[in-house]
Amino acid sequence: MNPDKTLSIGVDLYGCPNRCRHCWLGHMPNRRMAEDADCFVMGVFSPFFDKIAFYSWIREPDYCNDYRERWERDLAISKNVIPERFELASFYRIVRDPEYIPFLKSVGVKKVQLTFFGLKETQDRYVGRKGAYEEVLKATDLLIEGGIIPRWQCFLNEENIDEIIEVYHMAQKIRETKCPELEFFVHEGSCDGENRKLYPIRIIRDHIPKELVPVYLNYETLTTEKECLEKLREDDSCPEFPVGEEIVLYISNTYDVYYNYTEMSDPWIIGNLKKDEPEELVRRILNGDTYALNELKKTSWKTLTAEFGDPSSERVFDMDDYRMYLVNECLKRQRMPHTI
Ligand code: SF4
Repeated sequence: MNPDKTLSIGVDLYGCPNRCRHCWLGHMPNRRMAEDADCFVMGVFSPFFDKIAFYSWIREPDYCNDYRERWERDLAISKNVIPERFELASFYRIVRDPEYIPFLKSVGVKKVQLTFFGLKETQDRYVGRKGAYEEVLKATDLLIEGGIIPRWQCFLNEENIDEIIEVYHMAQKIRETKCPELEFFVHEGSCDGENRKLYPIRIIRDHIPKELVPVYLNYETLTTEKECLEKLREDDSCPEFPVGEEIVLYISNTYDVYYNYTEMSDPWIIGNLKKDEPEELVRRILNGDTYALNELKKTSWKTLTAEFGDPSSERVFDMDDYRMYLVNECLKRQRMPHTI
């Protein structure tokens, strides 16, 4: 038993209706897991952890028809921890199920985040589903009518600048006419999973429109790739992702286990719940004894920047996102440049 650790487990029990081009987890097929998958997963970890929060989703929350019973079940099978609701919900379900917003209110949800990539054609293309644009607008109206504050997050890149300005104007209009509390922010997003494929059109700092600067998330600490490289290029330490007191694991619908801090790609697999012995799996989780983390011990930031950085790039990054970008570039190419 590990009394000092709290475990949160998210299981991809139902999948997701969308295929967003910014999805940091990476795209996975929807596959319905076995009826007893929740008990099976809890059964693996229960002997080792005293505090476990169980979540039946890692992609779209509430993407199952019996979402109310499902939430109650998540609460019931969690162990000495109450799972959180977060400010997330299914916009797919909001526009299809009149009982859903009352349910969200009943479980204490006060705000819901909705994502924009641009106007109609762009939004549908980025979400991977026709009608997604109308759905986020309709979901906004329904949330406001239902007493929940919408928060619009926009991903800005080189191809949607004018459209995001337009979305900002729409948000301002909604604030003036029906919901002064509507929240709005713009950011560049991380650079892992599907989002990594958008690197070529990642926003250049000088191209961020002045009008969007006040609503740009953490604009003051935004760095260009060039500046990130300057900070890292003399750093001889190796990339490390220490295992803390709170461990969050994602379980794929094929029972592969991952930490939650980056994409769910093969190099990051810790093990498999059906194939590995629970003792061995938990040992790897607690000690960070995984393929990716062990490979990263053999290199350094200095080496990764020299190998994978573009010193002429003015693309913007949060520093931690850039670190993860370098690490994943390296793992993706399965070409680990060794320092030692
Ligand atoms: S970003 Fe969220 S909604 Fe979009 S594909 Fe990924 S999990 Fe689904």
